[in-house]
Amino acid sequence: MSENNLSSTGNFIHNYINKDLEGKLNKIHTRFPPEPNGYLHIGHAKSICLNFGLADLYGGICNLRFDDTNPAKEDDEYVQAIIKDIKWLGFDWQDRLFYASDYFQKLYECAIKLIKKGKAYVCELSPEEIKQYRGTLNAPGKPSPYRNRSVEENLDLFERMKNGEFADGSKTLRAKIDMSSPNINMRDPIIYRIARIYHHNTKDKWCIYPMYDFAHPIEDAIEHITHSICTMEFEDHRPLYNWFIDECEFEQKPRQIEFAKLQLSRTIMGKRYMKELVESGEVDGWDDPRLATISGIRRRGYTPESIRNFCEKIGVSKANSVVDIGLLEHCVRDDLKSKSKVLMAVMNPLKVVITNYPEGKTEQLTIENNPEVKEKGSRQVLFAREIFIERDDFMENAPKKFHRLTSGQEVRLKGAYFIKCNEIIKDDIGNIIELHCTYDPETKSGNGFEGRKVKGTIHWVSAKDCIDAQVRIYDYLLLENGEKNPNTLQIINNCKIESAAKDIKLDEKVQFMRSGYFTLDYKYTSENNLVFNKIVALRSSYK
Ligand code: ATP
Ligand code: MG
Repeated sequence: MSENNLSSTGNFIHNYINKDLEGKLNKIHTRFPPEPNGYLHIGHAKSICLNFGLADLYGGICNLRFDDTNPAKEDDEYVQAIIKDIKWLGFDWQDRLFYASDYFQKLYECAIKLIKKGKAYVCELSPEEIKQYRGTLNAPGKPSPYRNRSVEENLDLFERMKNGEFADGSKTLRAKIDMSSPNINMRDPIIYRIARIYHHNTKDKWCIYPMYDFAHPIEDAIEHITHSICTMEFEDHRPLYNWFIDECEFEQKPRQIEFAKLQLSRTIMGKRYMKELVESGEVDGWDDPRLATISGIRRRGYTPESIRNFCEKIGVSKANSVVDIGLLEHCVRDDLKSKSKVLMAVMNPLKVVITNYPEGKTEQLTIENNPEVKEKGSRQVLFAREIFIERDDFMENAPKKFHRLTSGQEVRLKGAYFIKCNEIIKDDIGNIIELHCTYDPETKSGNGFEGRKVKGTIHWVSAKDCIDAQVRIYDYLLLENGEKNPNTLQIINNCKIESAAKDIKLDEKVQFMRSGYFTLDYKYTSENNLVFNKIVALRSSYK
């Protein structure tokens, strides 16, 4: 840890930690505590980078802890997906993978301790009654008629709750704090409920489950967490967090620090909404490349480095704000530009016959793999009499400013020759189906020929050995006005890619010249069927 590091990245969380380290604390211990009730999204990535990043920065450690106290919505599928996502992001919890459910016995004992101290009681009010008794922001609550039960009676009833003697929802255990507290969270919150729900870890062992507000501080204390970092909605719960830590008499008291959630423009976050899209079939699973889930952006082709860099750039604060999704895309582009090979791919092919190029003749031309990164080397690209160019790169009646191919005007084929269009072949209804061009053998690229000027360079693939592929182009889930975008997927079926495409590996990222960054879709690609996801455009469309 260096002073420099800290001052350049300093934020309010660092200030707390620095102060604590000046006192008796000598090593920080954080945790990332996901609830396994859905897949992780980019907002969680912010929290992961923050918690593991702080541990890293201060030479401390960070646990992964599944906060699995609400079995109704939890599932082992989510546990496995979360583990995979965090590893992919590049973080390591070593042997410190924990489950809140492993602490059910200890949590139970803490509840007993509270009862014995006269700080918790078994209540029989219905949920509606509890709500009525709780009061409002302006009016104090009133005490439950069960509030003054004896310790013995409470101990007996709570044990019988645990033993399954009472119906689900018929009783709760509540902390006895202050029904007139200005903070509603302190008005005798529920700490245990009866619910016969199968738990993915403890199976049918328990029929009472602890509530989040009670469980979370105790989980932190058990693990000797020093800094319990959470999002702003828990700010009003902090007095309760501290109350449980104090009343359960933990010696080492974790400090809760809140920060603002990441919100991102043009997409939806929140597991509940994502789950709806997945379950309704509107998207293609939790890993749909349009979703802001970690698995979705991984399938789309985003890299862990770019996500970590993004999280670094957005920083942490206490003020809610929406981050422009363009910043995330910028980070992705920035990471891919030096990592990827640049290949030629024609999305909307138009056939070109080079009439003065001998039939049957072919040539291998050498093209750099990435003009900005010489170490990426070069490859051979086959040139022959018939090629495909992008339909948009030809215009029959072009304005003066059009610098690509048009009748009588020369254009450079990338890495190859100048060609000139002499004849436009059309079908019966006037659609252009083919161009007849001639090439100038003196203009071969790499021969040092620079004598003649040409205004534009276009990409191409040879008809002889190009590979057909499908390309999938995604749009944002939300329109600029926040409404749902009805068209989020465009599929191009007859894209033609130079033959090097056959060597692209499943997790490799490539640039298609003048078009964008792409990766193979692992779900739809098979040996004879290449399907590419567009990761991001070459340039930002944001002004
Ligand atoms: P969601 O609101 O998407 O359903 P959650 O907060 O319920 O998410 P948890 O599994 O409880 O999901 O979250 C694990 C951790 O990630 C928590 O500490 C939570 O505060 C943090 N977190 C969740 N969403 C965001 C976000 N958008 N930005 C930053 N941190 C987040
Ligand atoms: Mg949650």
